[in-house]
Amino acid sequence: MYDFIVIGAGISGVSFAYKASKYAKTLLIESQDYDREIPERTNIFAEHNKPFVDDVFWNDDSIFPRPFLQLNYKSEKCDGLLHSKEFGAPLGKISHTEVLIKKLIDKFRDQGGKTLFNENVAKIVRHTDYIEVISGKGESFSTKLLVLATGSRGFPLQKSLGFGVPESYMGIYTNIYADEAILNENFNFQYMFHLNPNISQNGPFFFNVGKGRIATGYLGNRESPTELKNKLIRILRNYQKIQPFMKGIKLDESIPCISGGISKHPISSFSKDRVIVLGEAAGLVTAFFYEGILCGLASADIAATMLEGLLASNSNFSSAELKKYDAEVARVLFTYFRNGNACEYLFYTESSSSKTLWNSYSNLLNTNKTVRQYVYEAHINQDLSTHNTDNDRWVGERLFATIPVISKMTLWPKFLKAMSF
Ligand SMILES: Cc1cc2nc3c(=O)[nH]c(=O)nc-3n(C[C@H](O)[C@H](O)[C@H](O)COP(=O)(O)OP(=O)(O)OC[C@H]3O[C@@H](n4cnc5c(N)ncnc54)[C@H](O)[C@@H]3O)c2cc1C
Repeated sequence: MYDFIVIGAGISGVSFAYKASKYAKTLLIESQDYDREIPERTNIFAEHNKPFVDDVFWNDDSIFPRPFLQLNYKSEKCDGLLHSKEFGAPLGKISHTEVLIKKLIDKFRDQGGKTLFNENVAKIVRHTDYIEVISGKGESFSTKLLVLATGSRGFPLQKSLGFGVPESYMGIYTNIYADEAILNENFNFQYMFHLNPNISQNGPFFFNVGKGRIATGYLGNRESPTELKNKLIRILRNYQKIQPFMKGIKLDESIPCISGGISKHPISSFSKDRVIVLGEAAGLVTAFFYEGILCGLASADIAATMLEGLLASNSNFSSAELKKYDAEVARVLFTYFRNGNACEYLFYTESSSSKTLWNSYSNLLNTNKTVRQYVYEAHINQDLSTHNTDNDRWVGERLFATIPVISKMTLWPKFLKAMSF
């Protein structure tokens, strides 16, 4: 009998498994063959993720080979730039996330944790005093508590246990490799977030600039993987606004692209008797910016901390006891979520106004130091429960002041509503 079985070895599942295995007998199950390969991901890792990552990983340059110094909230009209040197420390780091996942798994195993890769969990059976997990190959494992960290690929499983399913869209990205000299020449930022409703009405086109490689793609629509890929290749080859960044970078027709769901908006409950849900499976991804790593790390940390006491006191992990997990996730993350929800409502809901608004926002970032400072502070805040929503409202007011008069007349009710989020 395991204390905990974790299904899913993305950032949420592995960081929980690593922390929990310090005090609990833990099994980590993943459907992909991680012993052969952990898929490469180059991610933005804002400084506000730091409280949830142990120093031994945070200070490892093979995981975080580049500081996150400058962002580019690019519109059709201009590059909206924020450089951290204006305010002090970097905005965070760029992660080669597969290295972080590998190192967390290695430490998990060192601490006695067991892994089962290339194994899809097909069925879960509830018994009165334990939970049975049955793999696709028919093997059965028992646990006192089940942790679902299945991202957006395990919805049937969480539905079968009575959990809700978050709203989800499709996203696509590809890894492109290039000499450091070319990357330094083409990119003076590490993160580009570009809104264009012709690309997507639900998310950005992005560049995440790593070491010797970039990840680029877009988030947000419901096309098929082939349509997503064809569009991404067309954008990378032909879209004028980004051609300067692609200069000298070879783009192969057969380039492998990874498409998958991206969730947003939390489900109503993250725990039931003997089961909790972490990260993206619970819809814990900020709206608008799609920060899933923050939420995966935070929910894993909160769960691992809370469960230690319950396990020690021989708890039966009733939903009444696990409700503390839901409450703590809400306390830590949901104040900050209001920012993403308001931005989503302002920028994504109507394509006719989103271009005007995003053009004004990029320009505002370039011209207003206080706006840059507030965006900087949100990136580096080490306790997001103290995120200052008054600052967000102040930026909203400034944005309204700068949009064209004709847009003001139609958009003021929208602004008024966004301010109340
Ligand atoms: C294109 C793109 C770019 C992104 N960029 C960023 C970024 O720069 N910064 C950021 O913060 N966030 C980013 N995100 C979001 C972030 O990557 C995710 O929200 C986060 O990684 C989710 O982590 P997770 O562990 O909850 O789920 P996942 O990483 O999805 O892990 C779930 C795992 O569960 C496994 N699984 C599912 N079902 C089963 C089953 N039945 N049996 C066994 N295993 C199963 C899956 O194989 C998978 O490995 C991005 C998302 C996308 C799509």
